[in-house]
Amino acid sequence: MNDLPRTLHETTVAPVTRQTFDAVMVPTYAPTTMVPVRGLGLDVWDQTGKQYLDFTAGIAVTSLGHAHPAIVAALVQQAGQLWHLGNGYTNEPVLRLARALTEATFADRVFFCNSGAEANEAAFKLARKYAHEKSGPQRSRIVSCVNAFHGRTLFTVSVGGQPKYTEGFAPLPGGITHIPFNDIDAARAAAGDDVCAFVVEPVQGEGGVMPATAAYLQALRALCDETGALLIFDEVQCGVGRTGALYAYMNYGVVPDMLTTAKALGNGYPIGAMLTTSAIAAHFGPGAHGTTYGGNPLACAVALAVLETINTPAFLSRVNEAAALLRQTLNTIASDYPQVFSGVRGSGLMLGMVLADGWRGRAKEISKAAETEGLMVLIAGMDVLRFLPALTVSDIQIAQAGQLLRRALDQLAGA
Ligand SMILES: *Cc1c(COP(=O)(O)O)cnc(C)c1O
Repeated sequence: MNDLPRTLHETTVAPVTRQTFDAVMVPTYAPTTMVPVRGLGLDVWDQTGKQYLDFTAGIAVTSLGHAHPAIVAALVQQAGQLWHLGNGYTNEPVLRLARALTEATFADRVFFCNSGAEANEAAFKLARKYAHEKSGPQRSRIVSCVNAFHGRTLFTVSVGGQPKYTEGFAPLPGGITHIPFNDIDAARAAAGDDVCAFVVEPVQGEGGVMPATAAYLQALRALCDETGALLIFDEVQCGVGRTGALYAYMNYGVVPDMLTTAKALGNGYPIGAMLTTSAIAAHFGPGAHGTTYGGNPLACAVALAVLETINTPAFLSRVNEAAALLRQTLNTIASDYPQVFSGVRGSGLMLGMVLADGWRGRAKEISKAAETEGLMVLIAGMDVLRFLPALTVSDIQIAQAGQLLRRALDQLAGA
């Protein structure tokens, strides 16, 4: 029987379970045991019908929650009209989205792609090309931060500052230097006329939910202005309203030369973008870079609806209100469980609870216990519990999340 070809009936009707993952997927991930099948707002249901409160938003992606009506409407409308043409043609949704992004930010120009890594790849390549054409090939070094995360392509993962992610992939691209985050002296020491760009996450996400200080970003801006390097902000995780401003740089009042955005931009429909000025964009002429799906009408129609929903004063002021409440809730829990947590850090609705010394390395255990209680939360490394709820989170849902987390902690402490 086993060597007979599988019938249509077998492949479509045989149930898929978490075990199927281990049988048929390349094991790059180790997903949790429950398999979500439906989501609405911040509510998620698994295969058994169990309900969860989602404080992960797919790692800062579904910032308007699951199945947001305005986003579903934009997708369905565009799906019935025009899906894809290829870059030999432009299209109305991409032009509307590029215009909206340039009107809303420092940027004059946008390059579209399909993920955060691709947005960073475009930024790093453009920084090299700009420097090559303006100053010559000796200006090629990219300076990035320890613990930074910029994606998983070979170039972006090498620029990222987590050596465990490059292990086994040598030879790695060269011309990359890593400096400690938030260390102005180290940045000064790393600068030079061979540097084409400094890249930084205004709020490090994977690296532990760590905001840059304003002084640090200001110092990087000044260094870049002095030495002719470009300043790249990776806002793939902290952008699109997450910190209470459309982009985090707006909170800091420090303007980059390039900004990368993805994750929440499509609320789950894959899209990424690299934003820059006209003077820099001019070095990416026809043929210099590209991607088949970049700027396709479906993704752009969805992203435009996301941007129009999030980028209003009322929406962003509610994000700040919800952020203050979540921070207060987490702070109270941290002080009620001082043996577990040493504090809370982050920005807006991007918050991390830092584990105390006695609980180091146990973030995954807490997130698993929370899931058992019906709360989905993330970790950032093994020592930080990370909260990235949809920006539409209500006061009641924040209170519920607090209660579920307390229950999980009591279960763990009692065990
Ligand atoms: C997630 C992330 C990326 C990579 O985005 P992908 O869409 O997974 O390629 C890059 N930078 C930051 C800061 C991220 O959080």
